[in-house]
Amino acid sequence: MLVVQKYGGTSVGTLERIHACAKRCLDTSRQGHGLVVVVSAMSGETNRLISLSNRLISQVHGDQTTQSDEGKGPYVVSGRVGHRPHQRELDQLVSTGEKVSASLLAIAIQELGGKAISLVGHQLGMMTDGSFTNARITTIDRERLHRELDAGHIVVCAGFQGLDREGNITTLGRGGSDTSAVALAAALQADACEILTDVDGVYTTDPRIEPRAQKLPHLTYEEMIELSSLGAKVLQIRSVEIAMKHRVPVHVRSSLHTGEGTWIVSEQPQQSGRAINLQTPIVRGVALDRNEAKITVTNVADIPGSIATIFGKLANDGVVVDMIIQNASRNGSTDVTFTVPEQDLDRSIEGLQALDLISSTSELISDRAICKISIVGVGMRTHAGVAAKAFELLGRDNINIQMVSTSEIKVSVVVHERYGELAVRALHEGFGLHQSAGEQQAAS
Ligand code: ADP
Ligand code: ASP
Ligand code: MG
Repeated sequence: MLVVQKYGGTSVGTLERIHACAKRCLDTSRQGHGLVVVVSAMSGETNRLISLSNRLISQVHGDQTTQSDEGKGPYVVSGRVGHRPHQRELDQLVSTGEKVSASLLAIAIQELGGKAISLVGHQLGMMTDGSFTNARITTIDRERLHRELDAGHIVVCAGFQGLDREGNITTLGRGGSDTSAVALAAALQADACEILTDVDGVYTTDPRIEPRAQKLPHLTYEEMIELSSLGAKVLQIRSVEIAMKHRVPVHVRSSLHTGEGTWIVSEQPQQSGRAINLQTPIVRGVALDRNEAKITVTNVADIPGSIATIFGKLANDGVVVDMIIQNASRNGSTDVTFTVPEQDLDRSIEGLQALDLISSTSELISDRAICKISIVGVGMRTHAGVAAKAFELLGRDNINIQMVSTSEIKVSVVVHERYGELAVRALHEGFGLHQSAGEQQAAS
C-alpha cells in the first residue's frame, strides 16, 4: 500500500512536534506501507517571511506603506501588488520555509533509525504554471519519487512549491501544501492521502468559533469544495478539486493521535461494502470568510454595457469578484454592489477610478468591515425554505444582512464583521448542527 501523509504547520511547529511526526512516519512505514510525506513550513514561518519582505519594502520607501501579512490568497507586497519581479522573489523567499521543515523531518527519521530523503519542489518534479504566489500544478515527474521509494526511503517532500517552465520557483497559494499532497497522491495513485492537522477532522464549523461543533465522519467532495471556497481553511480548495477529479480518498485527521477523522468521498461511496447515505442532513456545515471587502458604485448609467465595463475592468486586473447585487433603476441610473478579496480592494478601487463610466456623479464606496457566512449541504437541493430559515435565525439575533447569494448547495450572506462569529453560532445551532448525528436523527 502507498500512503501520502501531509503534516501541517502546527504539526511541525516545534522540534518536539517534528520528533513526534518522525515517529508516526516510521510507524506507518513499519506497517509495510510505502510512504510519501508532505510538510508545511513550521507554524508562523510563512507569515514571518512575508512580513520580512514587507518590512524591507516599507523601509526602502520610508515607512509610508502598511499592509497585512496574513491572508489566504496571493501575497500582498506593499505598494506594488501584482508586480512580477517582486512576486518571483517572494516565492523564492517563502518556499524556504518548507525546505527547512522537510530536511528537519528527514533528519529526525534518520536519527530514529529509518531511511528518509527530503526533496524540494523542483527535485521531485513538481511542475507548475508561472503564476507566482498562486501557481497551479501542471505535471509531476514521478521518476525520482519512484526511484526513492524503490530504494526503501520515506520520501519527505517540501509542500507548497514547484517549478515553472523557465526554471523559477513558484508557490501554490496559502495552504498550498494540502494541494501538493493530494496532487502527489493522484500522480502516484496512492491508496490514501492523509491530511494530518491540528484538528481531529472537518467539523460542522470551525471549532475555534463554536466549541459545540461536531466532527463529520464524511463529506462529499462537492461539499468540501464549497466549505473550502467559503472560508473553511482546513483544506485548500484546489486540493479538494484535484481529489475530486482523480477520485483520491482524502482522510483529514489529527496529527496527535490515530483516531479516525473525516473522509472526503464521492457522493455514493462503497466503503466497507456498504453505501453511506450522505443526503440526510440538509445543512452539513457553516463557514466564515473574513477576507472579503465590499464595493458600491453609485449612480451607474442604466444602459447596456455599463455592468460589463465595470466587471470587465476588474477581470482584466485579475480581481475575482464574488457576490454581485444591482439595485432597481431610478431615473436612469442604478447602484451596483459587489465583493472582492480584501487584499484586492485598493487596486480594485484604483482600477475603477480610471474608468470614464465612473462619472463625476458616481461614487465609489468601499467597506472592509464585512464578512461572509455560508451554510452548505447537498441536502439543500431537495429542500425548500433553507434560505428563509437562515434569514429568520439571523433576524432573531438582530443581525442585519447586507447581501445574499445562493447556489444549489449553499446560502451565503454578508454581514458586518462584528457579527460574524455570532452569526456562525446562530446558524449552527438553528440548523441543529451542535447535536450529534444520533440526536439529529431522533429530533427529525
Ligand atoms: P495546517 O497547518 O495543518 O494546514 P490549518 O490551520 O491550515 O492547518 O487548518 C486547520 C484549521 O482550520 C483548524 O485549526 C481550524 O481552526 C480551521 N477550520 C476552519 N473551519 C474548519 C472546519 N469546518 N473544521 C475543522 N477545522 C476548521
Ligand atoms: N506554509 C504555507 C502557508 O502557510 C503553505 C501551507 O502551510 O500549506 O500558507
Ligand atoms: Mg493548512
